[in-house]
Amino acid sequence: MQEIPYKIYLEENEMPTQWYNVRADMKKKPAPLLNPGTLQPVTLEDLSHVFCTELAKQELDDKTPYFDIPEEIRSFYRMYRPSPLVRAYCLEEKLQTPAHIYYKFEGNNTSGSHKLNSAIAQAYYAKKQGLKGVTTETGAGQWGTALSMACSYFGLDCQVYMVKCSYEQKPFRREVMRTYGAKVTPSPSMTTEVGKKINAEFPGTTGSLGCAISEAVEAATKQEGYRYVLGSVLTQVLLHQSVIGLETQSALRKYGVKADMIIGCAGGGSNLGGLISPFAGEMLRGEADYELIAVEPASCPSLTRGKYAYDFCDTGKVCPLAKMYTLGSGFIPSANHAGGLRYHGMSSVVSELYDQGLLKARSVEQTEVFKAATEFARVEGILPAPESSHAIKVAIDEAIKCKETGEAKNIVFGLTGTGYFDMYAYQKFNDGQMSDYIPTDEELDKSLSQLPKI
Ligand SMILES: *Cc1c(COP(=O)(O)O)cnc(C)c1O
Repeated sequence: MQEIPYKIYLEENEMPTQWYNVRADMKKKPAPLLNPGTLQPVTLEDLSHVFCTELAKQELDDKTPYFDIPEEIRSFYRMYRPSPLVRAYCLEEKLQTPAHIYYKFEGNNTSGSHKLNSAIAQAYYAKKQGLKGVTTETGAGQWGTALSMACSYFGLDCQVYMVKCSYEQKPFRREVMRTYGAKVTPSPSMTTEVGKKINAEFPGTTGSLGCAISEAVEAATKQEGYRYVLGSVLTQVLLHQSVIGLETQSALRKYGVKADMIIGCAGGGSNLGGLISPFAGEMLRGEADYELIAVEPASCPSLTRGKYAYDFCDTGKVCPLAKMYTLGSGFIPSANHAGGLRYHGMSSVVSELYDQGLLKARSVEQTEVFKAATEFARVEGILPAPESSHAIKVAIDEAIKCKETGEAKNIVFGLTGTGYFDMYAYQKFNDGQMSDYIPTDEELDKSLSQLPKI
């Protein structure tokens, strides 16, 4: 058998020319987005007020299996893609496991995460539509960073509403965004109606993603020539992120490796959805079988403890309603939660795959996650993002199980990004000051009781 290299690089001409839309192969489709005013499925016209028209079309299309990747986007992708699939020989050695571990590394670009894959696509469609600029929200700042890079590439204005506590506590990502020319506003701000309302209702609030989304949507709809863009959760984002899964599939095929298990961390579900889509497609078409696993924080457990129901995507309730696994749009993870993955809901595609039993989910506590991150960093060299480390944790657990059973499973996981801007969290962990918090059933019931009655 051919020896598998440490890094499986694809050639430039092996980079995907099309994105894959897993909805096309799903017999039972994800439920449609609903217009919050009429409670009817959203139309292209509804969405086109908020999103770029081409992106709105992608959002609504659950039939077309492949979308061509425009050449302008492919030429940007070439700066950092195809990304390597790494065989974690050193980690295997350290764990003394018979398992073969692979990770798809998406941190090899300045934004430091997979988010650039969709940011560049969204900026491209905005530019093509002749828009002046886009608005968005960002939590810790990865999405805002990726979008600001993409917008500067196409010469678009980029306005970012950044969750206030991150704006204050994470100045470095904020400055990266400003360096790429973005305007960054702490949210809730006094520049939007919804921001003023939230500030009046909750004085001194340090903000949340749901609230920043509402502000960004309002800013987009109130300015001529602007649209709103979002870095996760939406189906269009999963579509763009399918490059991760398609490249992983090609790289494995190149060496005749059949994955047994594919693991991804899950916040809004975009990297996970993109990684597993082509493999889920094989399962849906009856061609192959895989164990697909979503990993989420125990402090924000939308798949493992949420409800599958229609819910608001934002605090201000201005966005369409989505049917998804949710903790309720009022849910905010406890203050000691360090990393991202803090959104209350989950992509409707990931939710539906989970509901159909194609995908499993696990929740893990953050101290365990940082332990796994440290173990990984020390042997594989890469300093992983806390979000990505959720997948590392489960991959290590599974490799240790293989040690007990003697199985040589092929374990593949998504390493979504690097953690250089997360050193405050690493510091807490290194000082032994990191704690875990698992919300009680009563707390979850409280936010779940506010779900809209649909
Ligand atoms: C944003 C982010 C995630 C989580 O977002 P998803 O949409 O669930 O993929 C995971 N890892 C990194 C590094 C991120 O920046």
